[in-house]
Amino acid sequence: MTSFNSADLPIFRLAPGQLTYSQLRASFLKAAHHRGAQLHAYPHPLKGVENENLCTDVAVAGDPQADKWIVVVSGTHGVEGYYGSICQTRFLLEQDITPTAGVGILFIHLINPWGTSWKRRVNEDNMDLNRNYLDFDQPLPVNPGYEAVHELFATDIRDADRRRAREQRWREVVQEKGYAALMNIVEAGQYRHRDGLYYGGEQPSWSNVTLHQILKDHLPAHAREIISFDLHTGAGQFGHPMLMAIAEQDYPGIARAQSIYGPWLYTVITGANNASDTGISAAATGYTSAAMVKLFSDRQFTQLVVECGTYDSQSVGQPALLADHFLHLHGDPASAEGKQIKQQLLDFFFPADPDWQALVQFRTRQILERAVHALRNGQ
Ligand SMILES: [Zn+2]
Repeated sequence: MTSFNSADLPIFRLAPGQLTYSQLRASFLKAAHHRGAQLHAYPHPLKGVENENLCTDVAVAGDPQADKWIVVVSGTHGVEGYYGSICQTRFLLEQDITPTAGVGILFIHLINPWGTSWKRRVNEDNMDLNRNYLDFDQPLPVNPGYEAVHELFATDIRDADRRRAREQRWREVVQEKGYAALMNIVEAGQYRHRDGLYYGGEQPSWSNVTLHQILKDHLPAHAREIISFDLHTGAGQFGHPMLMAIAEQDYPGIARAQSIYGPWLYTVITGANNASDTGISAAATGYTSAAMVKLFSDRQFTQLVVECGTYDSQSVGQPALLADHFLHLHGDPASAEGKQIKQQLLDFFFPADPDWQALVQFRTRQILERAVHALRNGQ
């Protein structure tokens, strides 16, 4: 291994607000190279905000023939990938994953590269990828509660009268239903309006197809024990990385996770009328987690989510998300106002506060380390 100075990596030199997709990518590739990981790229068909090429990069570290595997996915929700990417890069730099350990680690870097580059939570088709992992041969879920409020999210707010009318109507609906109940309806997802919120799509997204391809290409058929992590931010208490198992029903992987993490683990069982106090929607369908559990039902498989809390959702998060939604619907992301909206959104999902940064990176490293040790020691 060559000598290496991590301070040379852009992600450790620049302020969080200055980071771009290209810098995340360059740092990840350098760290993977330094670790001697095998690298593979899955090119995305569109360009990024700086006209850069977009890719989901994959690094296979540790023992590529191992029968025990860790999978770490970042950037399902585009802009949340700034946190996830840095944690993946740090883990590659700082952990000694030797090929003799009998454990392989599959790092899937920025599975929604378009969303990371453009600093959006959704993908290039306005889809929330965590509503998109469904069987599209079956009838899609319907959300009548969303239908009743969709116009609030599709109005052209460049017109001042319409904007005022929309704001008035929004206040009335929040008052009538209560903010939490309203968001539970909206965040459950919808499959009819590509100009709406929490749109799950009408076919598998590029990221969905690519994730399946990556798992097929790089997890050997003899992999019998797998622990998978999906790295997120934006829900929960500020600076608290919550370790969650999210599934449609109990399955053996949850008991496995409890044996490794004990009280660190928070379990959310999703269903049409379910609610949770975690800040993530328990009423939604199409989670990556649920699809992974189904995909690996013939293995010893555990799917976990790390969800790092930031600011308050109602007063900071949703206004930032709505501003970004309207910006891409009718506005100009390259305008001064557009850049300001992007900055607000980035700061919600990736706070510049150095203590927030330190906390979430430290805890995420602990969570990943525990999984590696559990697999390595047959715990
Ligand atoms: Zn997320």
